[in-house]
Amino acid sequence: MAKDNSLMDAIVSLCKRRGFVFQSSEIYGGLRGLWDYGPLGVELKRNIKEVWWRDMITTHDELAQPEGTPSTFQMVGIESSIIMHPRVWKTSGHYDLFADQMVDCRTCKSRFRADHVATSECPQKPSKCPGEHEACDLTEPRDFNLMFETYVGALRDEENKAFLRPETAQGMFVNFKNVMDSNRVKIPFGIAQQGKSFRNEITPRNFTFRTREFEQMEMEFFCHPDESPKWYTYWRDRRFKWYTDLGIDPAKLILRDHDADELSHYSVGTADVEYAFPFCDEGEFGELEGIAHRGDFDLRSHMEGKLVREGDKLVVEKGEDGKPKYPGSGKDMTILNEETKERYVPHVIEPAAGADRTVLAFICNAYNEETVTNDKGKEETRIVMKFHPRIAPYKVGVFPLLKNKPDLVAKAREVCTLLRPHMAVFYDEGGAIGRRYRRQDEAGTPFGVTIDFDTLGEQGDELKNTVTLRDRDTMEQTRMPIGELLAFLLEKIR
Ligand code: ATP
Repeated sequence: MAKDNSLMDAIVSLCKRRGFVFQSSEIYGGLRGLWDYGPLGVELKRNIKEVWWRDMITTHDELAQPEGTPSTFQMVGIESSIIMHPRVWKTSGHYDLFADQMVDCRTCKSRFRADHVATSECPQKPSKCPGEHEACDLTEPRDFNLMFETYVGALRDEENKAFLRPETAQGMFVNFKNVMDSNRVKIPFGIAQQGKSFRNEITPRNFTFRTREFEQMEMEFFCHPDESPKWYTYWRDRRFKWYTDLGIDPAKLILRDHDADELSHYSVGTADVEYAFPFCDEGEFGELEGIAHRGDFDLRSHMEGKLVREGDKLVVEKGEDGKPKYPGSGKDMTILNEETKERYVPHVIEPAAGADRTVLAFICNAYNEETVTNDKGKEETRIVMKFHPRIAPYKVGVFPLLKNKPDLVAKAREVCTLLRPHMAVFYDEGGAIGRRYRRQDEAGTPFGVTIDFDTLGEQGDELKNTVTLRDRDTMEQTRMPIGELLAFLLEKIR
């Protein structure tokens, strides 16, 4: 897939026009790397998060796992606080290590991520990469910690310094024992959460792909070390399938195993689910989710203290006084294997997805421009968002044929009342029916229901109490009794 800036521009413009995504604080000129979801965007995002939650937790059935699954397992959710004890970030390594390298250009005063220089746009075009233009004057790379700082309490001193979390995962690790003790879960099991994370990205870019405030959907799966390779493969494949089941074009999605030199110092294996966004160069993809085998790194860190690699071992990092540089909690995170009486620290498999990047991938994937012939026999472009019905912001549009006919309006309202307890319904009585269909095509509403004079029985009893049902993708229109509508739509959206 080649890079397509005009396609990306068209998608960004539709997002604003239809109320999917707005620039944050736009009336004041916006703030870089921050975005707001409009009425359609918020529904889409909620639906995506809900489908993820259902798939990972509520509808997970430990007794009906697919063949080849190593053993049964339980899944639970939590919601942890955004500001956590600063020691969490010291022992996890984020305090010392969660940094990107940045370079500044002394000439144009722009700032770039050192590892993105080759793909960044130099403001001093025509040369594309910073450093290539003769006037470019780049500084040496410098570390830049991505965590946002804040203060807890009245005094703004080092003692009270805290951080906005850069990932939700630590909430699961620090609550590992609490969940085990309170919920009778047994290894293997998973703890999941969704929530905001914050990273002071050096170069936020590509619309909502890289932002400074974003939402994550993460799960930590705790298992016996001997079983961890099987679980890693299980979650890696299952997470990839989640995207294609919801309609992401498999030709644009890859599961990419990290090379050894890309792995974090503690990771045994990591694979990314990546999507060919229109802003990606030919053959390049953008990460939606990382599935990592994290070994016992996280639980051991919170038990013993910040770990560093020494040869092929992870050891507690010592300060100048020979004591642990950042001591752990000292809490016992080991599990007793009842059969062998062995004690072990569970290994962790982590599928970590970004909700906003997933939303953007579904938006790009749904966007279609088609040439159609209108009522007057002329060709025109139809923009249609082909969302999977499960995630579409509205499931059905309900339209009285004419708004100045009270009987049509009353019947249409009746249909809305019938459907609304079960799904998101959009009622629209304004303008020509064709225009109303087009608006819902752009919103990605999979079905349209029109109430006309046949519905009222004005042309005879045969079609009385039937409606026209229009399919967004095929534009086919069929007649359906109102009594069958709810069951039909429920079947399609579940
Ligand atoms: P990248 O390499 O793109 O910076 P990452 O590998 O640091 O991402 P993780 O720490 O693995 O990302 O976070 C898990 C997921 O959170 C990512 O796959 C992505 O979907 C999402 N995410 C991370 N950083 C951002 C961001 N700045 N804006 C939006 N989503 C993000």
